[in-house]
Amino acid sequence: MLGCTGSIGQNTLDVIAAFPERLVVDGLCCHSRWQLLAEQCQRFQPRVAILTDPAAFTEADRSRFPAGTELLLGDERACDLAASPSVDIVLAAVVGAAGLHGTWAALEAGKTVALANKESLVVGGQLITDLAKRRGTTILPVDSEHSAIFQALCGHTAADVDRVVLTASGGPFRGRSAPELESATPTEALQHPTWRMGPKITIDSATLMNKALEVIEAHWLFDLTAEQIAVIVHPESIVHSFVEFRDGSILAQLSPPDMRLPIQYALTYPERLPGPATRLDWRSLAALRFEPADHETFQALHLGFEVVRRKGTTGAVLNAANEAAITRFLNEEIGFLDIARCCRAVLDSHDYDPAPTLAGLLAADGWARQEVARWTRTRSQMTTAR
Ligand code: NDP
Ligand code: MG
Repeated sequence: MLGCTGSIGQNTLDVIAAFPERLVVDGLCCHSRWQLLAEQCQRFQPRVAILTDPAAFTEADRSRFPAGTELLLGDERACDLAASPSVDIVLAAVVGAAGLHGTWAALEAGKTVALANKESLVVGGQLITDLAKRRGTTILPVDSEHSAIFQALCGHTAADVDRVVLTASGGPFRGRSAPELESATPTEALQHPTWRMGPKITIDSATLMNKALEVIEAHWLFDLTAEQIAVIVHPESIVHSFVEFRDGSILAQLSPPDMRLPIQYALTYPERLPGPATRLDWRSLAALRFEPADHETFQALHLGFEVVRRKGTTGAVLNAANEAAITRFLNEEIGFLDIARCCRAVLDSHDYDPAPTLAGLLAADGWARQEVARWTRTRSQMTTAR
């Protein structure tokens, strides 16, 4: 498990605990939260535990870890773990582009990847899907929308599909206008109405960048064109997306907003087993609402479709710009709507490469982060001048 201490990581351990005969944790990896990692190791007794943050590794109290767990440091050890012969399936649940190398190492070693880290596909979709094909391995989606589509597609080929509709909760700012959102604060943006998730994806849900990233993810996972992907707002987060087939049939997957279900489906695929996820109580459901997405206020949505059309370095640039802009927003250096504005500006000024290598993608990522710093400085000078 890469990213074991996060929201997905903790939900995954809940699922694993429900299937002790079937699922055994070989290794756990997180960035810096060593105390939580130590608790997880006490509970699941993995062979190895890895921290990727050197300061946390130095600080970590070895006596808190079980004697049978080896504590290691660094990204390379995480890649070794993902490729280890004792591993059957890798849960990729690191947040951000930092998750790319773990996903890559797992696929290169021919492992099945349960993919939560959508940024792997946003940054390197072409190379990642080519690699999975070359190694004859499978990427099983953990993201709830893509798990829903994956389930609806079972037994069908791409030729049967007209289009897929990704549902979005609408986030905390559903129904608000752009002028109202100009002064939205990090605290407000971090209040998600239906899902409990890590801070980065929670901000992505508020800007609807999460849906933009998911459009790109759907393109790579299911080989869909931009015209075959639509987004609709569904505030209850019960319908996790649907597939419209050529004959007019629509198949959807429904369940309460609880990530343990898509995680379990990926870990026990293709079996359906009774597990810990919350069950839907139809009596408590007053309505299922569907509304068009507000592409005008939530400009980030356009960027996802643009990346699907242009590909090349655009995914890496958009993703890195977004990550850097979120950090600046959380530090209150830029406003809420600046996140999408900044991403737009960085995408527009980047040196487009239609067929980048992995090194080229990483370079584009680094460049975009610097560009966000420059954009932020220019913006603050303009504000001061005013
Ligand atoms: P969190 O922020 O809750 O957790 C992130 C995890 O990644 C933590 O274990 C963290 O370790 C680790 N991590 C952070 N930086 C690094 C790094 N540089 N190297 C190695 N590990 C690192 O995120 P979420 O669990 O919410 O999200 C994880 C991924 O899953 C994201 O890509 C997100 O988009 C996707 N996803 C999440 C959903 C959710 O419900 N949360 C739903 C659908 C998709 P530490 O704790 O030590 O910092
Ligand atoms: Mg999702």
